[in-house]
Amino acid sequence: MKKTYQGKEQVMDFFSKFSFCPSCGSADFEINNEKSKRCKACGFVYYLNASAAVAAFILNEKKELLVCRRKKDPAKGTLDLPGGFVDNYETAEEALKREIMEELQLEVENPTYLFSLPNEYEYSNLLIPTLDLFFLCQIKKDLIPIPSDDVEDCFYVPLEKIQLELFGLKSVKKAVEIFLREQIGKKCQNI
Ligand SMILES: [Zn+2]
Repeated sequence: MKKTYQGKEQVMDFFSKFSFCPSCGSADFEINNEKSKRCKACGFVYYLNASAAVAAFILNEKKELLVCRRKKDPAKGTLDLPGGFVDNYETAEEALKREIMEELQLEVENPTYLFSLPNEYEYSNLLIPTLDLFFLCQIKKDLIPIPSDDVEDCFYVPLEKIQLELFGLKSVKKAVEIFLREQIGKKCQNI
């Protein structure tokens, strides 16, 4: 069963998996506070920070939202927004353009930042804290998305027909709810 917990407990679980100082290798590597572990041998302090991720709201000219179906776990088979992790030394806008090209073979124009949500991502039995950045994007007219990479399928859905419960990742579901509330005033009771 998937672990679900938030904040401090999640970080403590993460820290418990890392027994040795990544700087000197000492086992005298102890929890410093809810954000960090400290090495008693060399003084190194390791901070666990959120990994940045991006996701896109792409609307067509009929104001329908482009949604994807996830090909892989976590949340395989559920609906998702296109996006992914930001690489080192990349801007969020560059990450968004790269991910949408990889996942949908689409060129994105003028990504506009909307809002962010904290999230966690299950990876190798660890829950990694993330900060998801959501953007509104335009694509060049008449371009057809081609599902690729870890996207099983993709299709446009009219905003009023979107079912929030079909989105598998918690922060994406919350983000779609916020987006719909702003776009059409829709509210879902299930979240
Ligand atoms: Zn050390």
